[in-house]
Amino acid sequence: MLEITWLGHGTFQLRLESGEVLVLDPWIEGNPAYPKDHSISRVDALLITHGHFDHIHGAVALAKQFSPQVVAIFETCLWLGSKGVQNACGMNKGGSQKAGPVTVTMTHAVHSCGIQDGDQVIYGGEACGYVLRLPDGRSIYFAGDTNVFSDMALIQELYQPELAFLPIGDLYTMSAREAALACRLLKPKKVIPMHFGTFPPLTGTPEQLAELIRDLPGTEVWPLIPGQPVNW
Ligand SMILES: [Zn+2]
Repeated sequence: MLEITWLGHGTFQLRLESGEVLVLDPWIEGNPAYPKDHSISRVDALLITHGHFDHIHGAVALAKQFSPQVVAIFETCLWLGSKGVQNACGMNKGGSQKAGPVTVTMTHAVHSCGIQDGDQVIYGGEACGYVLRLPDGRSIYFAGDTNVFSDMALIQELYQPELAFLPIGDLYTMSAREAALACRLLKPKKVIPMHFGTFPPLTGTPEQLAELIRDLPGTEVWPLIPGQPVNW
């Protein structure tokens, strides 16, 4: 069993049955969709897909508060280290590392990765996604911010994720149209839509995605509500 809590936009908290907590793409302060009554009480691992503020803004503060293992692409880890993050564990695409009992594999993403630092934009490496392999054998694909890409078929072939987190908002990521094709390539049993509705231009909706994959047997759209944990 895995407890999943959407913290709005692209931010998620995953709590394992054994108690460890993984936080993905932390955006807390300034996140209009962050659930007001949620407080993070434990972080064992922090996973970051790219350096844009809406995915990394909360990373340094959480790292200093909880001293978690911080996973990101090599160059983004260098930047985190320069901000005083102690346990930044850099990696690159195709590689894996353990985060507690979870095996974390970095995947490709079609997106950019500059890090805003004051009035500068720092090179943060490339944007990525992650496959998480749980101790019970199930796999999750967390896409981060991306467009659909044909190598999602390789992610399916290599890891067979049963659950996929896909952005659907449009403008900065794919919309429901591209996400529907991603579902056909990935063939997950469930899809959690993310990165929509936070601002008016992020217009994609879970209903649009559900409509577009109505003919896809075995894949169900699973819309979450920020702050309300679900079990998977
Ligand atoms: Zn984003």
